[in-house]
Amino acid sequence: MKELIQSLDVREVSAQEIVQHHLEEIAQHDPGIHAFITVDQEGALRQADDADRRRAQGQALSPFDGIPIAVKDNISTKGLRTTCGSRMLEDYVPLFDATVISRLRRAGLVLVGKTNLDEFAMGSSTEYSAFGVTHNPHDHSRVPGGSSGGSAAAVAAGEVPWSLGTDTGGSIRQPASFCGVVGLKPTYGWVSRYGVVALAPSLDQVGPMAKRVEDAAALFALIAGNDPRDATSAKAPSFQVPAWDPEVLRDLRVGVPEEFFSAGLDSQVEHAVRGCLRQLEDQGAVLQPLSLATNAYAIDTYLTLVTAEASSCLARYDGVRYGKRVEAEDSNTMFAKSRSAGFGSEVKRRIMLGTYVLSANHYEAYYEQAQKVRTLIKEDVLDALSQVDVIITPTTPTAAFQIGAKRDPLEMYLSDLFTAMANLSGIPALSVPCGLNSHGLPMGIQIMGGNFSEALLFQVGYMIEQGVEGSARHGQL
Ligand code: GLN
Repeated sequence: MKELIQSLDVREVSAQEIVQHHLEEIAQHDPGIHAFITVDQEGALRQADDADRRRAQGQALSPFDGIPIAVKDNISTKGLRTTCGSRMLEDYVPLFDATVISRLRRAGLVLVGKTNLDEFAMGSSTEYSAFGVTHNPHDHSRVPGGSSGGSAAAVAAGEVPWSLGTDTGGSIRQPASFCGVVGLKPTYGWVSRYGVVALAPSLDQVGPMAKRVEDAAALFALIAGNDPRDATSAKAPSFQVPAWDPEVLRDLRVGVPEEFFSAGLDSQVEHAVRGCLRQLEDQGAVLQPLSLATNAYAIDTYLTLVTAEASSCLARYDGVRYGKRVEAEDSNTMFAKSRSAGFGSEVKRRIMLGTYVLSANHYEAYYEQAQKVRTLIKEDVLDALSQVDVIITPTTPTAAFQIGAKRDPLEMYLSDLFTAMANLSGIPALSVPCGLNSHGLPMGIQIMGGNFSEALLFQVGYMIEQGVEGSARHGQL
């Protein structure tokens, strides 16, 4: 990306040429990958034209003016349809931009299109999209992860230099790990959710995805910041991209939770993650074994809360105000028919589960109980973070699985085993590629830290990236 920005700056290359190049990459690769639901070729070329004109007049909006980006299709884009991967919203064209989109436009980024996702961001493979499956660019017979599978695959395939995803239980980090790209789930509240279609508002965050840590950090700096339009937005200052100083590792206390290295963890993933930990140690970090015992409850707690919140958020799709409408003789039948036709089976499953856990007879046993366990999980995490600076784990227990391999929804839910904890406790978590397994599939390492510690996470991630590249150059991976 650095080279791209430099050549734009000295006008060796125009935004038109950059965008044209990426559109050609999309035309070439996307028929096999299907990362995009919508490609806005005309709009992208027009935006590139505007960027070139501004630059010629010495009025570039930012160093990134004219750089293309793709955005997950649950983020509202004015005039460009936003489907959430659902038949329910297949014709929905927002009348406004999400705050993150306004921020990108303010920096002059060129929105080339909207990427595929599991319907309403519910899933871990992008197989639950109503618009078809996305394929992993490293092996087309495998999933790219999900739910931000399109955003991860588009970056991995070189169709765009970076993208935005959303993460409620792991949906940025797991696909980043499966596709070999960098992905950040920011501190809850640092990025505005205004205009982002809600899955579970107490857990959702928008975050950057890119090939390199530095680029993910630069994109994060563009989107992070307080937004009065989002009541849950943190009163945090803007994010400053850190200086990439190796000194950051000196005496850095790295927590290694034993629960994330136990049965079920693929041996090649474990080997790669432990290799990175050893490298950090060699560079001055101090590894500290610790326990995060409450992670045993993370998936159950997450599922109870995510289904409850989703069932409530998705009540608005009733055929009247938004979305698909199937006419019927009376209004109740119309609601039922519209929702039956508009939602896919995973969404229906979650709405039913969520309605059940919120129902009067079960509320205390499930929803309230899950809230209490969430507090315990949060306390466990914050307690660990009072003893160490960062916590490092694998991002996922395995590399990308085959398309169609996980028919049982419970098995699919286990994909979030290592990622849900950060959403439940609100802390930031970064996934960085940590090597390829014997099938040539990427694996990811996760770095978690205290609230608003993104600068530190990026710096540690950068050192890991350097180390992994060094080992790859020496044929050690
Ligand atoms: N895989 C998780 C789920 O299915 C995460 C979803 C997300 O983060 N949007 O709920």
